[in-house]
Amino acid sequence: MSVRDLVIQAIYLAASVLFILGLKSLSHPDKARLGMQQAALGMVLAIVGTLFHHEILRFDLIAVALILGTVIGYPLGMFVPMTAMPQRIAISHMFGALAATLVGVAEYRIYGAGMPRGTMAALGFEVLFGALTVTGSFMAFGKLQEFITGTPVTYRGQNAVNITLFGVAIAMFVYLIFRPGTPMVFYGMIGLALLLGVFMVLPIGGADMPVVVSLLNSYAGLASSATGFVIQNNVLIICGALDGASGFLLSVLMSKAMNRSFGNVIFGAFGAPAPALAAGGAGKDLTVSSVSAEDAAMRMAYAGAVIVVPGYGMAVAQAQHVVRELAELLEKRGVTVKYAIHPVAGRMPGHMNVLLAEANVPYDRLYDMEDINSEFPQADVALVIGANDVVNPAARSDPSSPIYGMPILDVDRAKGVIVLKRSMNPGFAGIENHLFYAPNTSMLFGDAKSSLTRLVSEVKAL
Ligand code: NDP
Repeated sequence: MSVRDLVIQAIYLAASVLFILGLKSLSHPDKARLGMQQAALGMVLAIVGTLFHHEILRFDLIAVALILGTVIGYPLGMFVPMTAMPQRIAISHMFGALAATLVGVAEYRIYGAGMPRGTMAALGFEVLFGALTVTGSFMAFGKLQEFITGTPVTYRGQNAVNITLFGVAIAMFVYLIFRPGTPMVFYGMIGLALLLGVFMVLPIGGADMPVVVSLLNSYAGLASSATGFVIQNNVLIICGALDGASGFLLSVLMSKAMNRSFGNVIFGAFGAPAPALAAGGAGKDLTVSSVSAEDAAMRMAYAGAVIVVPGYGMAVAQAQHVVRELAELLEKRGVTVKYAIHPVAGRMPGHMNVLLAEANVPYDRLYDMEDINSEFPQADVALVIGANDVVNPAARSDPSSPIYGMPILDVDRAKGVIVLKRSMNPGFAGIENHLFYAPNTSMLFGDAKSSLTRLVSEVKAL
C-alpha cells in the first residue's frame, strides 16, 4: 500500500469513527447538536480523503459540483422551517440515491461486460434500490409538500401488481449477475425500479410518509454501501451500512410507537377519510365545554401541578416559545410544570424535543411517556397544545379504533384538561377523540400560539 493510500484509509477511518460518534450523540437531546457537528466533520474528512485519490484527473468539475452542492444545500439547511423537515429529508434522500444510482451507471458503462459476479451483484443491488429510492423519495416529498395528493391512491389488485413488478426486477437483477454484458436488461431494470418507487408510494397516505421516508433512507444507505463495494471505498461501505441500519431501526421504532405493523404502513392505505367522520362522527350527541383564556389562566395560575402535552398543532402554530414563557410565569407563581413527550407526537421522531429545545425549555422538564403517565392523576391541569391522537383514550378502550393498542399519554386521568386547538377536527388518524367531550375537559379554541399569548397576558394580569 502506498503512502497516499495509507493517508486516505486513515482519513476514512477517522471519518467513520466520527459518523459513529455522531449517531451515538444524536441519541440524546442535549448532545444532539454535538452529534450533528461530529457527523458534519466526518463528512468533510470523507470528502477530503476522496480528493486524494489518484484516479481523480480533473479538479475543476469537482469544484463546480462542490459549489453547486453548497448553493443547494445551504438554503435547504438554513431556511426550511422545522414543520417542513420531513419533506426536506425526503428530497435529500432522493439526491443521495440519485448519486448512488449514477455512480452505478457510470461503473457499468466502464466495466459492464467484464464485471465479476460479486461486483455485478453489488452494482445491481445499488442501482435497483438506488433508482427505487429516487422516485419513491420524490413521491414522498410531493405528498408531504402536497403537490401530489396525500390521500392513498388505490385500485384493485394493486399489491399484486407491485409484487409482480418487484419480482420481475429481481429476476433481471439475478440474470445480470450471470450475464453482465446485457445493457438492455441493466437499463430495463433501472426503468422498472424507477416505476416501482412511484407505484410503491402512491397507495400510502401522506401522513404515513415519515415512516416511508425513513424506510427509503435505509434503502439509500444500503445502495450507498453497495456502491462502496463496487468502487472499493471503505467509508462509503461503513456509512452506507450505518445509514441503512439506523433508517430501518427508526422505521421499526416509529411503527411500534404507532402500534402498527410495517405491512400496515406500506399496504394499509392509512389516512383515508374515516367513514364515521364523513357521516358526522360519534361526537354529534356529545357536548363540548369551552373555556375562556381568562378562566383557563386562572385555573393554571392557582394549580399545584401542570403537565404540558405538546403535539403537531404546537409545531404548526410555532408556539414553542410562548409555551416556555407561560411555563416560566407559572413556575414563578410556584406551580410545578412538566412536559409530557409522546414518541410520535408531531410528524417526525423527536419533533417535540427539537422544538422545545429550540425554545430553550430545560431538558430536565421533558418526560417520556412511560415516566410521566403515572403522574397525570395528581396533575391539576393537563394542558394539551395541538395534540390529538397521542392523547386519544380510544387507543386504550376501543378495540374497533384504528389506533387501538397505540400507547398514549393518559391525559384524561388528570383532574382537569385544557385543550388548545382550532376546531373539533380530527388529527392525523382522522378519528374522533372522546377526550374533548369528557366532563373534566375544557376546550380553548383558536390557533395555539394566539391562545397561549392570551394565556400569558392573563396570567401576567393576575
Ligand atoms: P395529531 O395530528 O393527532 O393532531 C394535531 C392536532 O393539532 C389537530 O387535531 C389539529 O386540530 C391541531 N392543530 C393543527 N394546527 C393547529 C394550530 N395552529 N393551533 C392549534 N391546534 C392546531 O397530532 P399528535 O401530535 O397528537 O399525533 C401525531 C400523529 O402523527 C399520530 O397519529 C402519529 O401516529 C402520527 N405520526 C407521527 C410521526 C412521528 O414520527 N412523530 C410519523 C408519522 C405519523 P385543529 O385542526 O382543530 O386545530
